[in-house]
Amino acid sequence: MSKISVAGGQVDEVSTAGFKVTASTATAAQLRKADMTVTRVKSDAEQANEYSAQVVAQRRARGEVERQARDFPPGYEKYHTYDEMVASLQQTVRTYPSIAALSSLGKTSEGRDIPLLKISDNVGTDEREPEVLINCNTHAREHMTTEQCLYIINELTAGYATDARVKKIVDSREIYFVPMQNVDGSTHDIASGKFLSWRKTRFRNSDGSYGIDPNRNYGYKWNGSSGSSGNPGADTYRGAFAFQAPETKAMETFAKSRVINGQQQLQGFIDVHTYGDTIMWPWSWTDKTVTPPDMTQDQYTAFSALGKSLAAKSNYKPQQSSGMYPSDGDSVDYFFGAHKAISFTLETTEGMGFYPKDSQIVPEVTKNRELFMSYFEATDCLYKATKPQLCTQTWPDAQ
Ligand SMILES: [Zn+2]
Repeated sequence: MSKISVAGGQVDEVSTAGFKVTASTATAAQLRKADMTVTRVKSDAEQANEYSAQVVAQRRARGEVERQARDFPPGYEKYHTYDEMVASLQQTVRTYPSIAALSSLGKTSEGRDIPLLKISDNVGTDEREPEVLINCNTHAREHMTTEQCLYIINELTAGYATDARVKKIVDSREIYFVPMQNVDGSTHDIASGKFLSWRKTRFRNSDGSYGIDPNRNYGYKWNGSSGSSGNPGADTYRGAFAFQAPETKAMETFAKSRVINGQQQLQGFIDVHTYGDTIMWPWSWTDKTVTPPDMTQDQYTAFSALGKSLAAKSNYKPQQSSGMYPSDGDSVDYFFGAHKAISFTLETTEGMGFYPKDSQIVPEVTKNRELFMSYFEATDCLYKATKPQLCTQTWPDAQ
């Protein structure tokens, strides 16, 4: 296995038959030189892409509208489709109009709105309170993450009148949710009636292939180290330039819009993914922990302490993001690197693959309640637990 990683391959599966490895042609050649037998198999992604291209072609030939969303397959119907998710957010706003407001983050490649829900007291006013953004369903097939967002939204709104802790969080923060960032990809993944294992957006690339990996398309260290691909057909395609995907561009526009009178209001960002029970802090692009001025020792110490404390709430593994594998152009690096938001990637649903049955929704999303609540409480200052004398920003409306 060490030979494989030295040559630059990534081991995906180990069985008695051998290793399943993701590797470039050059790496494969190197492995052959090292006396290993290398056979090329189609990856899940390649198979999904071929199938998806076939489906799209057939549907085009039949004159069907691609935008039409279908429900999830049997056993998965409790997952929210795009339309059901929108209806759920609209219901939230109707039921709790004083603390919940719905708008659009922007449009997807295929022209759909990406819903953005704000939760706070005096929700119609932009108060001087720490702001937090929770982003779900970056990757199309990670449908459980939309359920995670919707569950936390429900906890904050339905619990406001009766739970003193929830009330305090809602009163002292402005919390934004994007429950389905990759609307096109998520819709595409279920559009044929069976899961396509689709990951990327549905951006039409110049070579005719579809999709940019939204979590490799952010503008901090975009194409700056490794872990992203320049091949438009690849599952980790970084795009032709940073923020080429309308979905990531919309995130950038939002983040920049939160700078009020020269002060960035956005203090926190979580990107929710599946699968693996892990919470990860920046950096993703490098395994260097301290990179002044972009990451100081104080910042790293604070991230590491907060990451560990949050991980303990869900029995997750805490680590720096590069510890899983290095990847450039991802969201946590952008939100911390460019905006100094307290940024984490959450990987949920360990051991369940991308498609846990809908009976798993409740146990999975409820177990992260304490993690999210503690995170919201921590987002007024990164150094709160480690070096409070560095907490100098004041939040006059946060009470
Ligand atoms: Zn993901």
